[in-house]
Amino acid sequence: MAEYEIDYSEVAGRRIECPEGCGMCCLCQPEVLPEERPFFKENYPGRLVKIRGPEPHHALALKKGCGSCVFLENRKCTVYDNRTAYCRQFPFHLYASDRIKVELDLSCRGVWTGNGADALAEAKDIVSRASARIPPALEQSAAVYKEFYFNCREAGVLSDPSRLRMTVSENAGMFAELPYLSRIMDLSQIEPVMSLSGIQPEPRPDMDSLEEAGRDLAMESMGSEDPLNVPVYCDKDWNWNMFMASGGKIRWSVMDDDGDLNYRESVNADDVKLMIPDREGIRVLRDYINTLNGRDSFMGSVFSMMDYNGYEDDMSNAYYGSMAVTVMDLLWRMSMLDRFMGTGCGAEGVREAIIFYDMDRLDAPAIGAFI
Ligand code: SF4
Ligand code: SF4
Repeated sequence: MAEYEIDYSEVAGRRIECPEGCGMCCLCQPEVLPEERPFFKENYPGRLVKIRGPEPHHALALKKGCGSCVFLENRKCTVYDNRTAYCRQFPFHLYASDRIKVELDLSCRGVWTGNGADALAEAKDIVSRASARIPPALEQSAAVYKEFYFNCREAGVLSDPSRLRMTVSENAGMFAELPYLSRIMDLSQIEPVMSLSGIQPEPRPDMDSLEEAGRDLAMESMGSEDPLNVPVYCDKDWNWNMFMASGGKIRWSVMDDDGDLNYRESVNADDVKLMIPDREGIRVLRDYINTLNGRDSFMGSVFSMMDYNGYEDDMSNAYYGSMAVTVMDLLWRMSMLDRFMGTGCGAEGVREAIIFYDMDRLDAPAIGAFI
C-alpha cells in the first residue's frame, strides 16, 4: 500500500482509447529510462539519442531529427511490446507536488470519444508501474513545496490553495465569459489581495486589448522554426498541424509521416479576430476551467511564476490572474483554428482549441514535476 496520497479525481469515470491512425503522441520524443536502454542499444543501435541540457537523458530518435519517433510506421508502433514507460503512460501524466496527481492529456483525441478502457483502472496500473520512480520524485518536490510556502509566508502573500480552488470552482462561469475575464485580469494587477466576490462584469470589455493579450500568449508558444518546439494540433482527420509564428504572421503546415512539413497557408496574426464562445462552447470551457483548477500542475505553474516574480503578488491574484490569462490564450487559439479550418466557437470549436492547447502546459515552468 502506497504511503503517499494519489489523487485520481481527474480520470475517475472516464474512458480512453487509442483510435487507429493518430500517432500524435509519437511526436513527443520519449525519454528512455536506464533499465530500458539495453533493449534499444542491443537491438536498434543508432536509434537512441543523448539529450543534453540541465537534465541529460537518453531518448528515442526522431525521423529527420524533428518528425515522429523512428519506430512509428503507418501510424503504428513497430516496437509496441517494448515501447518505453513514457509511451505506455500517455495520455496519463503523473504530477508530483506534495502528493501525486494523475492528470489526463486532453490533446489526445482518444480521451474525448467516451469509448475504450476504464481510465481509472488504467491509471492505477500506470501508477503501479511507476512505483519505483515516485518516492524519490515526491521527496524532491515536497522539499521544494516546503520552501515555497516558507517564502510565501515570509513575504506575506500566502493564501490557502484549497480555498482558491473552491472559489474558482464556485465561480467557474465568470472565467468563461469575456466581461468578467476582462475585470479579473485588471483586478489581478491592481488589487493588493484579490477577491472574486462582488466582481461586476465589464459593461464594455476592451476587445482590442483582450485580443492582444490572447494573441501575444499564443504567438509566443508558436514562435519557433523548430517543429519540436511548437504546439501540434491533431485534427479529426489525424493531420498533424503545426503553426509557426514570426514577423506577425502565422504559418500553417502539416507534418507528414516522413517528418517533412507541407505548407498550407499563412495569415497575419492581426487578422485573427477574437471570437466569443456560444452557450454550448461556454459549457465546454467551464468544464475545462474546472479541470485546470483541479490540476496540481496548474497550481505548480502559478507557484513557479510567483517564485520567478520574487513573491511580489498575493497568491490569490496570481491564481485568478493566471486562470484568466490561460482562458484568453485558449480563446485566441479557438479563433485562430476557426480562421484556418472553420471549427467555430461552439462546443466543437472550444473542444478543438483544448485539444490544441492542453499538451502545451507540459512546457510551462512549474514547482513540482511530471514524472
Ligand atoms: S495521442 Fe492518444 S489517440 Fe493519439 S496515438 Fe497517442 S494515445 Fe493514441
Ligand atoms: S516507441 Fe512506439 S509508442 Fe513510443 S513514441 Fe515510438 S512509435 Fe510511439
